[in-house]
Amino acid sequence: MTSDGPTRRLLFVHAHPDDESSKAAATAARYVDEGARVTLVTCTDGAAGEVLNPSFPTALLDAVGMAQVRRDELADAVAAIGFHAVHQLGFPDSGWHEDASVVPDGTFARMDLDVAAEALAAVLCEERPHVVVTYPENGGYPHPDHIMTHLVSLRAIELAAPVWQVAKVYAANTFLRERVVAMHEAMLAAGLESPYADWIESGRRPDIVPHARIHCADWFPRRDAALRAHASQVDPDGMWFAMPRELERSAYPWEAYEMLWSLVATVVPEADLFDGLDVAAWDAASPGSVGPLTTPPRTLLP
Ligand SMILES: [Zn+2]
Repeated sequence: MTSDGPTRRLLFVHAHPDDESSKAAATAARYVDEGARVTLVTCTDGAAGEVLNPSFPTALLDAVGMAQVRRDELADAVAAIGFHAVHQLGFPDSGWHEDASVVPDGTFARMDLDVAAEALAAVLCEERPHVVVTYPENGGYPHPDHIMTHLVSLRAIELAAPVWQVAKVYAANTFLRERVVAMHEAMLAAGLESPYADWIESGRRPDIVPHARIHCADWFPRRDAALRAHASQVDPDGMWFAMPRELERSAYPWEAYEMLWSLVATVVPEADLFDGLDVAAWDAASPGSVGPLTTPPRTLLP
């Protein structure tokens, strides 16, 4: 991949501030560095998040509130990854609920699908991404906002199609069984205690061959910086940093994706999310004219 030629445009749809750092973040940083325009959409305000880092100063939370804490954290994470634009849709965080029937009314996961999808469709029409990355059908994990993010993404692509047709859609597969097993075995081989044994024994990690593996180990440090920016959500001594980074590089240097659909022919597994896609031809065939995109990084919320 090079930065020459027409601009490749890649858009990530995430549920909460911090998801852009814990899922597909190194991929995003790699495409930024390789000249693509990379955009982030964050669907919810994250206001229902709980502090997951015991060393986080609760005085800050008391002073400004969770939504503001997470906006500030997101800004730092975005800078670390290098997204060219950020669109915060600002829908109310549904919170984590084991029992989906108790998700509060008025929150993102309870919204009318088309109302939420129209907001995302407006971003798609503005940004005109060739490739969209969202979540698997089951959300990747069963947070109601993550499942809703999948549904909203697919519906928004449909709604935007008369103005802009997205060519390829992927779901980020963060903890596929193949990755967890590779990391587990690498820890054991290095004589370290593996935190992944329970995950493997539970059998709950998707045991599928991904449609795309993006080699992005060189961008793991940017991912880690972005993760650390979410100080209220990410414990620097916790699960995200359990594995020595040199070991992670050698065990599983990729981020993996399921292709939800593609309007171009490709051979899987791919090593590039733009495989099979001639972006100049795609732009020329699009319903709207495609001029240069100069939107500066910004958010839609104060
Ligand atoms: Zn989330």
